[in-house]
Amino acid sequence: MIRYFIIVMVAIFFTQCASLQAQKNETEKWPNNYWQQHVAYTMDIDMNVETYQYNGNQKLIYTNNSPDSINKVFYHLYFNAFQPNSEMDARLQTVPDPDKRMVTVDGTKEHPVYKSRITPLKEDEVGFIKIKSLQQEGTPIDYVVEGTVMEVTLAKPIYPGEKTELEMSFIGQVPVQIRRSGRNNKGGVALSMTQWYPKMAEYDIEGWHADPYIGREFYGVWGDFDVTIHIDKNYILGGTGYLQNPQEVGFGYEDKNIPLKPNKGTKNTWHFVAPNVHDFTWVADPDFIHDIKQVPNGARLHFLYKNNPDIQKVWRKMEPIAVKTMAFYNDYIGPYPYKQYSIIQGGDGGMEYGMCTLITGARNFESLVGTMMHEMGHAWFQFALATNESKHPWMDEGFTSFVEAVASDKIMKNKKDFIFDMPYKYYYYMVSTGKEEPLTTHSDHYATNMSYGINAYDKGSVFLAQLGYIIGWENLEKTLKAYYNKWSGKHPSPNDFKRVAEQVSGLSLDWYVNEFVETTHFVDYAVNEVKANSITLERIGAMPMPIEVSVTYTDNTTELFYIPLNVMRGEKSISGTQLPDWDWGHTTYTFTTPKPVKEVYIDPSLLMADVNRQNNSWKK
Ligand SMILES: [Zn+2]
Repeated sequence: MIRYFIIVMVAIFFTQCASLQAQKNETEKWPNNYWQQHVAYTMDIDMNVETYQYNGNQKLIYTNNSPDSINKVFYHLYFNAFQPNSEMDARLQTVPDPDKRMVTVDGTKEHPVYKSRITPLKEDEVGFIKIKSLQQEGTPIDYVVEGTVMEVTLAKPIYPGEKTELEMSFIGQVPVQIRRSGRNNKGGVALSMTQWYPKMAEYDIEGWHADPYIGREFYGVWGDFDVTIHIDKNYILGGTGYLQNPQEVGFGYEDKNIPLKPNKGTKNTWHFVAPNVHDFTWVADPDFIHDIKQVPNGARLHFLYKNNPDIQKVWRKMEPIAVKTMAFYNDYIGPYPYKQYSIIQGGDGGMEYGMCTLITGARNFESLVGTMMHEMGHAWFQFALATNESKHPWMDEGFTSFVEAVASDKIMKNKKDFIFDMPYKYYYYMVSTGKEEPLTTHSDHYATNMSYGINAYDKGSVFLAQLGYIIGWENLEKTLKAYYNKWSGKHPSPNDFKRVAEQVSGLSLDWYVNEFVETTHFVDYAVNEVKANSITLERIGAMPMPIEVSVTYTDNTTELFYIPLNVMRGEKSISGTQLPDWDWGHTTYTFTTPKPVKEVYIDPSLLMADVNRQNNSWKK
């Protein structure tokens, strides 16, 4: 738990909360000038568990809520990435530090030679999605497939506010598991079906986001899914969406008075409906155990994992903690928007999807709990608050890592002195390597996996913790709630988050987002000179910050001084001595003290990401 000494002006927050609520009630609409596209999918899938191929029929209704006329649309065909010589394959051979899950390693420890696991895939091991037919309102239309992206020229444009129907049939092949999705993962889960269907790309105020699939993040259109899957009858399924026919498949059906109606053929039909999501995932295995837990006043949690005593022992121990974690996030950020959430063994590592997560099974308790807490946090950051995570991975990975650290502290009571120690350490390390890239870098385009990983997870987490230093911790927590309240179910941008933080705190924060997100400037402040009753501080790094400095006098009393930064155009509430603003153009700042000084320490909270703390203190 963070013992933070800042007292916040509660009254201001309540006034602002009330005005946000009033605004919501007034319109029940999107924020000013905001719009988003909508898609409703109906899919019928026939899975062959022997060949790993599936035939699909997809009908979608696409609504153009943009002010633009649309003449073409783009689909993602993600499974095409898992083919020799794909862009993903090429990237694995050229990035200096590829994702270790996606390569085999030869050579020596000092000089490892990485080989893409995609390159040697055979015809019957690759992934693909092949379109068999495509029509717009019954008229066949032209399309071009380029790797993982399909460009479709419409027969007639979709004018602003209009809808169109697109129908296709396709055949897919589930790849050998390379990254996230695939067949027979390391834990032996048969089918991890993520990013498995022709998926409409998002069109927003920036235009189309038809990024090729290189391996990192996603961005999708908000909409509704109605998915029917025909599969061998001994398979158990879990994933996105509410199961419509549990009595037919005998899954999670608790009312013993209603008899099961098992299908007499060799296949079962699983019918799922998922309202207001931007992705649809499913997992299937013949050997799953299924547990259910209820979050008080919240969602039902489903757990699916392989029937193995070691795995069961650890997963059963994790289940009540998952209940507590969801209750914590409901309270800390805002209510989870669905009635169901599933934690499913599958994939590689942990990954978030609509209403569910896939986590590999064979883990110790700490690792399983940590991953569960992280992935569940994504139900808020990216699933409800659907940022374009390809462009702003720090807003989902970083914010999720932040709430994960807070949840872990509250629930697991780790008794850490500083719960964000690791993200700060990694961030400082990255700065020291000289390989840092700005947070604005597109996730697929980072020069190294290291800079992507530390930026997205750690610097993104530091962004929030440090914002707590700037606006005050209570204001930060109120900002998270207000952000969720305003932007859940939409696609918030970095500026949207910043505006909420500004409205909650009453401070200007453009300088902060600009310096910390859009540049690689860093914070380094130092104690420059101390005379008997005067202290001079110095800004060495390019990035300016408000400063808190703890001063111990020769009589052993301590006083905390707070120096607001001029471009904040205000100050947070603090139980310390407030000094005049530091106008950042000056690199030094001098103030006098009432008593002779013995010790000086800049930022005792450790929340300011000062890359060099050696020069933060002075002792007589
Ligand atoms: Zn994550």
